[in-house]
Amino acid sequence: MKLILLGSGAVRPDLERWGPGQVVQVGNESLLFDCGRGCSMRLVQAGVPLQDLRRVFFTHHHYDHNCDFPYLFLTSWVLGRNHPLEVYGPRDTERFCDTLFKELYREDINTRRIQPTYPPHGREYAARDVIEDQWTLEGEGYRVKMVHTVHKPQILDNLAFSVESGGKRVVVAGDNVVCDSLMDLAEGCDLLVHECSFPTKRIEEHKWGGFHTSPRELGRWARARGVRRLLLKHFCVQQGVAVEPMVEEVREGFGSEGLIVGHDLLTVEI
Ligand SMILES: [Zn+2]
Ligand SMILES: [Zn+2]
Repeated sequence: MKLILLGSGAVRPDLERWGPGQVVQVGNESLLFDCGRGCSMRLVQAGVPLQDLRRVFFTHHHYDHNCDFPYLFLTSWVLGRNHPLEVYGPRDTERFCDTLFKELYREDINTRRIQPTYPPHGREYAARDVIEDQWTLEGEGYRVKMVHTVHKPQILDNLAFSVESGGKRVVVAGDNVVCDSLMDLAEGCDLLVHECSFPTKRIEEHKWGGFHTSPRELGRWARARGVRRLLLKHFCVQQGVAVEPMVEEVREGFGSEGLIVGHDLLTVEI
């Protein structure tokens, strides 16, 4: 299994750190988790043919995590995808897809569907709101488990995922505060991919702090739960935040061994 971090940034424009998204490659399959700013371009750079994607997963529907999806869906069809795209995510995933492709882009799709080179099944999708907790999805040689996590519960439903294959396990989280469901899911995993958005002081003082895990808390709980390697992402560097002091805060609890600072297109073998 291999994880490719497509984008290590967050909301604001940054040419070095593009928006949230990562791919887990198992066998011949590439599973996409989130599709933020520029993910399609990063997929091309990573050598993942857009038209081969079959399964896409969303952690939540903050726009930094899903804004590249219409481009990915339609372009993968234009490039020859001839199977429906399976889309899994929290509440409103189905409505998100239906609004895009049955309403906003309906006429666009209709003008293209007469093109003989655009295959008929590529404009189809199967979207599923994952309401159940601990829901699992089987694939060829892998299993994806999904749990609900806490980001900003009164606004958004939120998920984290684990992908298990050949006795190894990677956990992909989105944005979240510290919560039992994620800690249980990540217990003893080989790789945890987790946000590191703001320094601890800013999390404690800022109103946005209620949405995110502080680097100090993250380092402590990840070490306590036996996470083997911890990959940091979702750096809000365009909001006056420096990466290294945050990494230092994670290191206080986690130590240096197994701590990985994410950058775009970083690849980790699991
Ligand atoms: Zn985010
Ligand atoms: Zn978010």
